[in-house]
Amino acid sequence: MADMENALYVVATPIGNLGDITLRALEVLRGVDLVACEDTRHARHLLDHHGISVPTLALHQHNENEAADKLIRLLGEGKRVALVSDAGTPGVSDPGARAVAAVRGAGFKVIPLPGANAAITAMSAAGLADPRFLFVGFLPTKVGARRTAISELAPVDAALVFYEAPHRVTETVADLAELLEPQREIVIARELTKLFEQIERMPLADASAWLAADANHQRGEFVLVVSAPLPRTGMDAETERVLAALLSELPVKQAAKLAAAITGQPKNALYARALELKDGKGLPL
Ligand code: SAM
Repeated sequence: MADMENALYVVATPIGNLGDITLRALEVLRGVDLVACEDTRHARHLLDHHGISVPTLALHQHNENEAADKLIRLLGEGKRVALVSDAGTPGVSDPGARAVAAVRGAGFKVIPLPGANAAITAMSAAGLADPRFLFVGFLPTKVGARRTAISELAPVDAALVFYEAPHRVTETVADLAELLEPQREIVIARELTKLFEQIERMPLADASAWLAADANHQRGEFVLVVSAPLPRTGMDAETERVLAALLSELPVKQAAKLAAAITGQPKNALYARALELKDGKGLPL
């Protein structure tokens, strides 16, 4: 790439399948003077796979500031530099943000190259209808802090996207099932783009049993996506249960009338809610 600018190129790399890299990323990695990377051996594996022999420099969470200074010096000499992380998009639950800020602060251009990201990959196959999602990333590792964080997320009106490590996935899923509504759906996406990729969707209430059913279900890298909270109906759970049961056997009008007689709730409200349930809004899948 002869006309490459003097800039820091932030390059997304695969999250498992070495083929998941863009043509532009390969062109840029071939054209830069240096690749700053989280782990030089890991990056070398990717670069070798694509026949690229550019020098590398370690830039990880423990040396990000000093490494950023080196990048700024090189950029000052007119060099072109790329930044990659071990997997996916740098700066997303990965080092990169501090270096990018420092480079930008020193007056150099930062050019992002979009590509693989585990959260977006999981969302693309989750099939949730929720219009919004919140990327949470890793929850705190300490039990108390993790449970507090989940409780704070419970009312957020959006699907929630978590990253989790295999040795913590069982505990985290148990906490999610306990602290969020158990009827919310979870999509467990493990080993995305890899040989043993698995994407399973189930009510949160069933997720711990699913993980325990097979030791392989707890292995590998995980994205957990939890659907948004069920719509607030203003109705108590018992009224909802009675209405849903009647609705499975009767037309809307009759179901609402009988539910009103059984629960003592206003018929109009029950009729409106019955229509929503019939349309699939708020019905457990
Ligand atoms: N920067 C990366 C990105 O763009 O997705 C994320 C890096 S973070 C240190 C690593 C976490 O991402 C893993 O613990 C896991 O939760 C998730 N992850 C990465 N690759 C994955 C994959 N192939 N399948 C499922 N989750 C993955």
